[in-house]
Amino acid sequence: MAEVRLEHISKIYQAEKKDAIIKKAVNDISFDIKDKEFMVIVGPSGCGKSTLLRMIAGLEEISEGSLLIDGERMNDIDPKDRDIAMVFQNYALYPHMTVYDNIAFGLKLKRFSKKDIHERVMQTAELLEIKDELQRKPKALSGGQRQRVAIGRAIIRRPKVFLFDEPLSNLDAKLRSQMRIELQKLHREIDATMIYVTHDQVEAMTLGIRIAVLNKGQLMQLDTPMHLYNYPNNKFVAGFIGSPTMNFLKGIIQYNDGYYFVHESSDCKIFLGTEIRDALKNYINKPIEIGVRPEDFFINDNDANKPDCTLKIIASENMGNEQLVYFSLADQILIVRRPSYKDVYITAKAGLIFSKNKILYFDAASGDVIR
Ligand code: ADP
Ligand code: MG
Repeated sequence: MAEVRLEHISKIYQAEKKDAIIKKAVNDISFDIKDKEFMVIVGPSGCGKSTLLRMIAGLEEISEGSLLIDGERMNDIDPKDRDIAMVFQNYALYPHMTVYDNIAFGLKLKRFSKKDIHERVMQTAELLEIKDELQRKPKALSGGQRQRVAIGRAIIRRPKVFLFDEPLSNLDAKLRSQMRIELQKLHREIDATMIYVTHDQVEAMTLGIRIAVLNKGQLMQLDTPMHLYNYPNNKFVAGFIGSPTMNFLKGIIQYNDGYYFVHESSDCKIFLGTEIRDALKNYINKPIEIGVRPEDFFINDNDANKPDCTLKIIASENMGNEQLVYFSLADQILIVRRPSYKDVYITAKAGLIFSKNKILYFDAASGDVIR
């Protein structure tokens, strides 16, 4: 059992200059991580992910708020007594020791018997598929193997909670996606609570059972991957999750025998229907921003349909299974994704139809989604 609870946790680093404005690296974050959950914390570089993880591990003092593990307050408990293991981006293996000794090290310190240590090292090596590497030194291993040893060193202690701080960032793309699968498998096999930090939204989406999105020290949204994708709370989350990123268009909603979204350039006028939600009616003739994912358009190739706008195509990329088409709208580029079934000729114009029921609306000032 290991349930982790964060209650109004903040981190204030001492300001370097006197009178400097106090900046909270982590600002009033609260959430629960359930027993055996795989929770991912994602956000851009510098948003406070490592600071938050280090506070959970006890490597950094908690300035405000409480950290509870299984209901017990941990703020003043020594890191070694928290029953937590952490895996970093830099594996920090002991270079002069064999893989076997690197993995066994923590148990030796805890004065486990030779026999117990051997059993657990073999079990761990089996789980991580590094049995053939046990007598080698770290420098003779590939990046992926080294990271497995680092993970082995963490799991052999069988802690209640695992913390991972961007453990795959130093690996190449192919190895990273392979290790993502292995981490899921590992999570299933050892059944522990895991908290995983990354700046990579693809990694977050593929690994997380739930994902906490951070920006500038604050929690933007905590949700399942699909919920984050389909129901973002604000423009930050909408733009951060998904690749290529969501298209944002500024404009106003007008009524003229039906409701229209009119882009600020007037080059795009989308008929929304004869009825719209009440919340949106409050925004009529006021600045608003809409968000549309690349897959939520149709490129009009049937003359019977009237497009919402006709725009110039500036480029297209064929990915084999799908095609990305880049349209020019005033001074911005709209990215449209569709199955590859036709060649699109650069510089041609094409009609675009927006999937009306997929459009997200944001308050232009706050960036909050309008529900
Ligand atoms: P992330 O891991 O998301 O990239 P960090 O948690 O490392 O972000 O950093 C969050 C913010 O706190 C950054 O603005 C960073 O410069 C600042 N910061 C991190 N460590 C310290 C420190 N020891 N002293 C002062 N500021 C720090
Ligand atoms: Mg970091």
